[in-house]
Amino acid sequence: MDAGIIQKYFVNQKEDVTVKCPACGRMKTLFVARLKNAQHSIKIDCPCHESFEVFLEFRKDYREQTLLIGHFRALSTPRIRAKRCIIADQSNGGLLLLTTEEVPIKKDDRMIVSYRSGKFALLETEKIISVRHYDPGHCIGGAFIDTQPQRNARPLKTASHWS
Ligand SMILES: [Zn+2]
Repeated sequence: MDAGIIQKYFVNQKEDVTVKCPACGRMKTLFVARLKNAQHSIKIDCPCHESFEVFLEFRKDYREQTLLIGHFRALSTPRIRAKRCIIADQSNGGLLLLTTEEVPIKKDDRMIVSYRSGKFALLETEKIISVRHYDPGHCIGGAFIDTQPQRNARPLKTASHWS
């Protein structure tokens, strides 16, 4: 078996992941909650004596339909000239804005979106998004720009022995 091939698995919300030995096909479910919030590779020793590495990526799929009044503007546009929109959909990756005005934007433009959300309605949230999709006069889909420092994948020297 080619040890150079690393299988990639996405970890679900239950924080378990079922991996398959590339040599014998044996399946094993691992509970990986303790590795949460980082990307890891794990070395697994199968009873068939195959040793292989899997790369884990944690996914938090969350998408919420909303109907919030918000404003959006280009990074260089003063706040007072922001356009009104409705935040129709929020996910951990971005926002969908509904707008009736045509604005001079294109894919990959960056915009500031501000809105008040949820229980803390007095606090205005501001997010920078990168335009992914623009349907003039209808909607703008944007992805959040990650302003946090990127986490690097940290290889863990964890051997998981199967009983
Ligand atoms: Zn095996």
